[in-house]
Amino acid sequence: MSQQNQAQPHRNFIGGEWVESVSGETYRTINPARPKEIVGWFQASVPQDAESAIAAAAGAAPAWGRMPAPQRGALLYKALEVFGRRGGELARAITIEEGKPIADATGEVKRAMNILEYSAGEGRRLFGYTTPSELPDTAAYTFRRPLGVVSIITPWNFPVAIPVWKMAPALICGNAIVFKPASSTPFAATIIAEIFEEAGIPPGVFNLVTGPGGSIGNTLVDDPRVKAISFTGSTEIGTRIYARAAESLKKVQAELGGKNAAIVMNDADLDKAVPGIVQGAFGSTGQRCTATSRAIVERGIYGEFMDRLIEQTKALTVGDGIDPANDIAPLSSKAQLDAVREYIGIGTEEGAKLAFGGHALEGPEFEGGYYVEPTIFTDVPLDSRIAQEEIFGPVLTVFQADGIEDAVRISNSVQFGLSSSIYTRDLVQAHEYINTAETGMVHVNAPTLGGEVHLPFGGLKASGVGQREQGTEGFNFFSETITAYIDYSAGSRERSRFI
Ligand code: NDP
Repeated sequence: MSQQNQAQPHRNFIGGEWVESVSGETYRTINPARPKEIVGWFQASVPQDAESAIAAAAGAAPAWGRMPAPQRGALLYKALEVFGRRGGELARAITIEEGKPIADATGEVKRAMNILEYSAGEGRRLFGYTTPSELPDTAAYTFRRPLGVVSIITPWNFPVAIPVWKMAPALICGNAIVFKPASSTPFAATIIAEIFEEAGIPPGVFNLVTGPGGSIGNTLVDDPRVKAISFTGSTEIGTRIYARAAESLKKVQAELGGKNAAIVMNDADLDKAVPGIVQGAFGSTGQRCTATSRAIVERGIYGEFMDRLIEQTKALTVGDGIDPANDIAPLSSKAQLDAVREYIGIGTEEGAKLAFGGHALEGPEFEGGYYVEPTIFTDVPLDSRIAQEEIFGPVLTVFQADGIEDAVRISNSVQFGLSSSIYTRDLVQAHEYINTAETGMVHVNAPTLGGEVHLPFGGLKASGVGQREQGTEGFNFFSETITAYIDYSAGSRERSRFI
């Protein structure tokens, strides 16, 4: 049962048991709002631990895969119930370990519950299809079969929602999973494992291994018992995983970085556009893959837009995310703080104009937390690094555009293609953008953020590869499609000579 005890290191969950790493080593995580505060100690796993988890999953996968999908669904509904009971605890775990405001953490837990509910219901669908055969007295249909063992490798920025939106479809499709959370956010992952244990997941179907990706990542990708890898994180690591997995023809679903733009046309409703861009750029401290990191504003409305943008950004409060009064919380780690500060420096050196913010917040009231002001750059050269690279912090770059074509050109000028948005009242302009934006998700009169669990989530270009997550596409990734032909005619007959 629950293995939580703040004095004891948390353990891996393998084959239904809470176990220590064979390394005998543990590591700690800290609260980014108060780095002196330790959140917990966790197993520093090594390849042997990952192998044990894969072996447990491989042992459990056949029976789990044969269980009728509605029964698997019933178990996910049970997990949903436990999630509901422990939701407040999970949200708090997110905030104290990753840093984000408690309201964002609560929203994240709700999103995880939505995908659990959606996936549990899929236990009574998981449709294949039937179609007429070209032969008489022959049935032809498709059905789904589980892949077997899948590795789930996740980042720190959504330590609950991203793992659950991978594991819920993986489990309902009948796969056994090995889950490796980001090293900096294993606490929420541990609670998720406890939830599935309490829900009665059979031993070995759900396995958790904590520790550095550099140590156990290759095993989770290379082991021949692993049939697919679902990864979210940096484009660099995702590219490496994709290349490694290709050597053994494994399926890969990789959700990577973003450099998302929101376009504001002259006819836009600024009462919608400005708060949408403030929320998109600075919500969750800008550490969302769908964060708005670029605003592209048509020249005629630029002055008014900037006045309102700065006024609304000024009103944001920065502080510990556990205090619901704060809008912007710390960055998730010292490394993130250093990276964001470096980008702010680079922006200034590259000739962009710092229109707001730009400083780390370091007084005694900030208790050494990793805070930076919400920051806005204007006059940004299009080929500069802050215009092109993912910063992953509360930094917004603003560009001016001459008409829709120019706005689309600027929007599409980056290597990423995750999400985008346009604010306009003109349906022609809106559709011009929907049809030409090089992103996997397009929003009209709404922020670049988020998505709904029954619709596909994912990006183009350097933002992702493989089948989309969520929606029907998510179930497609986690299952094989088998085609069955059944000849029920009496006696022998002429066979096709093709194939
Ligand atoms: P990473 O890509 O480094 O990490 C994501 C996951 O991959 C973590 O669980 C990590 O483990 C694991 N990992 C690391 N190395 C390997 C490996 N060799 N094989 C298999 N798995 C591995 O992203 P970060 O979390 O460090 O963030 C870096 C950047 O990625 C961010 O600054 C941002 O630009 C981008 N990012 C994008 C996200 C998105 O949703 N699109 C989310 C998070 C980050 P470990 O934590 O132990 O290193």
